Amino acid sequence: MPSPNWGGHGQLQLALSFYADSLGRPYMLTATKITKAFSHDVTAVRAVSLTLEPGRITGLVGASGSGKSTLLNMLAGLADVDTGEVRLNGERVPGPSDVLVAGHPQIRLVHQEYQLMPNVTIRENIMYAVRFFERTYREGRVDELLKRCRLIDVQHRLPRQVSGGEKQRTAIARAVADKPAVLLLDEPFSHLDLPNRLLIRDLLFDLIQYDKTACLFVTHDATDALSIADTLGILRDGRLVQLGPPAVVYSQPATVYAARMTGSVNILKAKHLLSLGLPAQQITESYQPDALVCLRPEHIQLDEAGVAGIVKAVFFKGSHSEVEVELSRYVSVRLLTTRHDVKAGQPVGIRVSAESVWPLKA
Ligand code: ADP
Ligand code: MG
Repeated sequence: MPSPNWGGHGQLQLALSFYADSLGRPYMLTATKITKAFSHDVTAVRAVSLTLEPGRITGLVGASGSGKSTLLNMLAGLADVDTGEVRLNGERVPGPSDVLVAGHPQIRLVHQEYQLMPNVTIRENIMYAVRFFERTYREGRVDELLKRCRLIDVQHRLPRQVSGGEKQRTAIARAVADKPAVLLLDEPFSHLDLPNRLLIRDLLFDLIQYDKTACLFVTHDATDALSIADTLGILRDGRLVQLGPPAVVYSQPATVYAARMTGSVNILKAKHLLSLGLPAQQITESYQPDALVCLRPEHIQLDEAGVAGIVKAVFFKGSHSEVEVELSRYVSVRLLTTRHDVKAGQPVGIRVSAESVWPLKA
């Protein structure tokens, strides 16, 4: 099996046929209203519908216990759905109770704990995934993956002799070695330090672009999801509360939870917008007094001519600082600034533009 060549449009079509069903369509995974309960009071996943497209990355963000791993297991055919269905190009993905060996040959799940074979080397762990291929192709594919995943120097070590980042990269290399149509990753960044997170993020991006895999990863930290996902979903108590382009979910979160899960945010009652200097008429025309609204810190500026407040705290973040400003006894907001001369206790002025205020559901 030759490596695909992504040169021109004609070649793209040809190459995609490696990841296509018998009619030549690239693989697409769809879940329709899938639900799973573990007992009458624990419903881990509730009527989740989503579509994973070739070469696109979907990120799902949810707190611990929100049903992320359960959802991935159902998408991979490793757990039965109670209701609803999972289909790969229209064909039902069977659950473990329907088949002898659980799992689908075109869908790969990278577990949070990597699950590498402990007694064979990094190279052999990856090789195992392509063991049925002809020798020259197999060796070439493993060499290519070791290089792309920066594992050449550690390829002859056992999993326990490599770092967490190297284990994670081995698990990803093994999962994509025989070019599955769908790659599912359970918290791929959670155990890693910043340089490794960036490395894995770039690696995933590369693999997915190059092999046109349909990819879904889940995380409890939106930073990674916002930067690489084409589509971002928010999972709460097993329910998909929002799904859309990351920029839209970030700037127009549907609920308080979606707003908080996607980054630092000010959540206020509409009546408190008066303390931010927004025109009273505009506020009363747009919102009920107790309606919740959100405002991202980067949409509030320090401005000496603006509304007066006192700096309560400064959180240094490297490229910028997040500054908490008290505007009245009841209202404090956080804003971002690149100024480094702002100190707690200092009087400042702030300015907000009405367009950046977004209404929320509770
Ligand atoms: P996440 O991956 O988002 O942390 P999980 O999918 O692991 O969430 O779990 C979702 C919910 O289902 C949790 O309340 C968890 O306790 C419960 N749960 C998960 N697996 C099982 C199981 N095998 N048996 C019973 N309850 C489970
Ligand atoms: Mg989990």
